[in-house]
Amino acid sequence: MAKKEFQAESKRLLEMMINSIYSQREVFLRELISNASDAMDKIYYRALTDDSLTFDKDNYFIKVIPNKEERTLTIHDTGIGMTKDELEANLGVIAKSGSLAFKKENEIKDGFDIIGQFGVGFYAAFMVADVVTVISRALGQAEAYKWESEGAEGYTIEPAEKETVGTTIILKLKENTEDESFDEYLEEYRLKAIIKKYSDFIRYPIKMDVTTT
Ligand code: ADP
Ligand code: MG
Repeated sequence: MAKKEFQAESKRLLEMMINSIYSQREVFLRELISNASDAMDKIYYRALTDDSLTFDKDNYFIKVIPNKEERTLTIHDTGIGMTKDELEANLGVIAKSGSLAFKKENEIKDGFDIIGQFGVGFYAAFMVADVVTVISRALGQAEAYKWESEGAEGYTIEPAEKETVGTTIILKLKENTEDESFDEYLEEYRLKAIIKKYSDFIRYPIKMDVTTT
């Protein structure tokens, strides 16, 4: 499948972002968890006006899955998901906040639930990962799609399999170098500490699945 290029401005922004916006790499997890929470809130908001939808709180959670053998960290949610077009629009255009648009469309006041607004949080993933894979199935859709990117070079989108509505983000952690180690993001205690520090206020359960091999 042909790789689509980011717009020139986006490319520069992505590089800048990866290198300087965040003072600490660990905040990538806060960003991905807040997006997951936003995605579940979007179902909640839709259910308020759509009688065919019910919001059973028990079905909404976030799962963080470190896998030492594969060197991946997976963040899974049961939120509203993204269609193929939404993957393209929301993850292909940097600094375009789908959440800000959603807040405007639904007249949701600032600071109230939906966290996203700047449209850059997702890309924080590239501070720790050199491949980011997003598998998503949107609410009301039978098919799922896989978005994949190695950073500023662009991304691919192709059909994928996914049984349930929601989004799974797989981070292929960067290789360790002499000065930097990314292994800490595979450690349960470290992930728990980051979640406690930044995501304590999240209204959905954050579960952890530790794969032992
Ligand atoms: P923001 O959260 O400020 O909108 P992000 O860069 O964090 O910006 O995310 C961009 C957009 O991608 C979000 O607005 C949302 O539309 C979409 N998105 C990101 N992660 C998810 C997810 N887990 N589920 C559904 N949509 C998502
Ligand atoms: Mg966000």
